[in-house]
Amino acid sequence: MEQNELIRAVTLELSQVSPRKFDIKETVNYFADRGFNTLMVFAVGYLYGETYYPSAVMAPHEELDGRDLFGEIFAEAKSRNLRVFAYVNSFFGGAEFYEKYPDWTARWADGRETTQVRAKGMCLNSPYREVIARVSAEVCARYEVDGLYLDEPSLQSWCACSYCKTKYRNDSGRELPLSSEGDRKDFAVFLEWRSSCVADFVGEVGRACKKVRPSITYFAQHAFPLASTSHSLHKHLFWGTTSGRTPPQFEDWYRPSFYGQDIRRVGDHLDMIGIEPWRRFAGYPAWWQGACVNYARASGRNKPVLPLMEYPHFPWGLGRLSDDELHVNCADVVANGGDLWWPMYAPGAADKGGWDALSKVFSELSELRQPNSTCSAEIAILVSRNSAERFALGKVNELYLDDLLGTIQIVRELHVPYKLLVDENLTVDDLVDVKVIFVPSAACLSPRAAEIIKSRVEQGGVLIAQGLVGTHDEFGQLRATQLLEELLGVRLGPELKHARLGYLIDRANSGNRVLVRDEFPTIVVNSAEVIYDIAPSRDLFVPPSLSDLSPGVVRRRVGKGVAYTVGPSLGRLRLRYELFEAVNFYHDLFTGLSWDISGIDLGSQVGLHVWRNETICHIALINQQGISDSGRLARLSNQSVFVNGASRASSLRGSALDVEKVGAGMRVTLRELAHWDCIVAS
Ligand SMILES: [Zn+2]
Repeated sequence: MEQNELIRAVTLELSQVSPRKFDIKETVNYFADRGFNTLMVFAVGYLYGETYYPSAVMAPHEELDGRDLFGEIFAEAKSRNLRVFAYVNSFFGGAEFYEKYPDWTARWADGRETTQVRAKGMCLNSPYREVIARVSAEVCARYEVDGLYLDEPSLQSWCACSYCKTKYRNDSGRELPLSSEGDRKDFAVFLEWRSSCVADFVGEVGRACKKVRPSITYFAQHAFPLASTSHSLHKHLFWGTTSGRTPPQFEDWYRPSFYGQDIRRVGDHLDMIGIEPWRRFAGYPAWWQGACVNYARASGRNKPVLPLMEYPHFPWGLGRLSDDELHVNCADVVANGGDLWWPMYAPGAADKGGWDALSKVFSELSELRQPNSTCSAEIAILVSRNSAERFALGKVNELYLDDLLGTIQIVRELHVPYKLLVDENLTVDDLVDVKVIFVPSAACLSPRAAEIIKSRVEQGGVLIAQGLVGTHDEFGQLRATQLLEELLGVRLGPELKHARLGYLIDRANSGNRVLVRDEFPTIVVNSAEVIYDIAPSRDLFVPPSLSDLSPGVVRRRVGKGVAYTVGPSLGRLRLRYELFEAVNFYHDLFTGLSWDISGIDLGSQVGLHVWRNETICHIALINQQGISDSGRLARLSNQSVFVNGASRASSLRGSALDVEKVGAGMRVTLRELAHWDCIVAS
């Protein structure tokens, strides 16, 4: 395949098939005929750390009988000009190791082990680390693979094994904590240490592979970003017990923190960022997967992103996603900056209908992002990992994720191109073209990001600080001086008030009201102007009292820009309480701002993403209308976009367009929008 070609990959999950029954030729041809260009082939599986070739490092699958299954698949795939990545599972090891070396297994805080069928979770700080590095290098040396994927480099336990306890003592001079209840700073140090262990391990395996085959593309797993381990959320999705893989101590953590994975840190060692955004498993709307890709791209500093996408809900393809959702997912992932990748569980037995649906959408999607183009956005939403991990630990949905994800939902519904940015690696350049930056519930905002935001506001940007922002340090402890106190002209909380079912009342527009509920931080105004008050209700059946008002939304003009403090977590209310009015609230707040590209009466679930190079602008419209409700797409007619400064427009897919000159730009109307389209403007 060409170097710049969109990756269309599938993982053959060989741990779920009998090697004796696996038809290599049929499977490879099946995917090659459907436009896939990359196969991830198991070299080391998760059944019991079994290898699929005669390895000198780890025991081969017991049904191989001396066969080199990996080599046979490799040869067949190469005969069809497919790229081959070796898959190495780095966490689930077999009895050959855990029986001989019981202290190599990863341990929960209470000493228990993580088990899966015949495998046990192994600790990356034990000598199993070298086993994985050796076997990965062995595969790279033996086969001319195009890349290697390291799955599950993680501490999905606690980990409280003897190796971790010793290493933590040596690295930090402290005893490894066995609960998150103690000192916040001590615990934050432990969390930081966990992610550095995972990053070091990933780096070490990568170096071992590149030493023997420098040309490979090396990448690793990163679990569901922008998601939690909440048992209550998952019990809402699945009756009965939840996965035995998540120990109870991790209740309502940021999911990547449970794994000990941080893209920003691990990404330094990778050529490509892998993530696993399964939205129905995580319980989020259809756009969530694309948002995860957008985040991974920002966190990995624009390295390519390959998301392992949702296809089946169980092995054998029971209850897979609908053809419509598979189709839209492809377009949404590409429009958010990702390439395409799915697992095929139980190859040979799996449902195959969906793969045909996928193959039909590949050819046109490869044109959606043209070479050398960059994602262009006028609104940015800042993701603060430290806030999720260290401030909201144990309550991550309530204190962080709901507000973040709901804010993404609100911004999508404003129909202005947006991107996610990452607090911990924000640069001045990230904000150059951004007109509005949303910072939802970033209690642990970093001082560096605060400075960058401040200077952007002074130069004409608009800041929306929503909920608690800049109030806590990187350890999740309360700051004496809040980071944005001067910029916002207010002191936030830390005390919270409860609106019950109250009103947000607009002082300027004859007291227009928006219903709000939940807690919000108290806002002590120093040098800013209150533009909305909050009137809380006293009781369910008593209307809110207009004599007990608190500042709800506050404005301060700074240099050429404006900084707003929005007390209530409007994102959380949009997501959980279906406060659709939050979109109108922000729409009204931004009256007077002019967008270069914006939707005009677009369907509420149409996503707008823009990729530009020097001459051409690609405006992708991704239609998710109806998908989260029914799995079925609602086709939309007359979808219009305003494009400033352009004089020509056409559809990448040859769809019918109406173009009308409006001021310095034009209004482009797609007469009909099915799954997706792309307006090419110049
Ligand atoms: Zn350990």
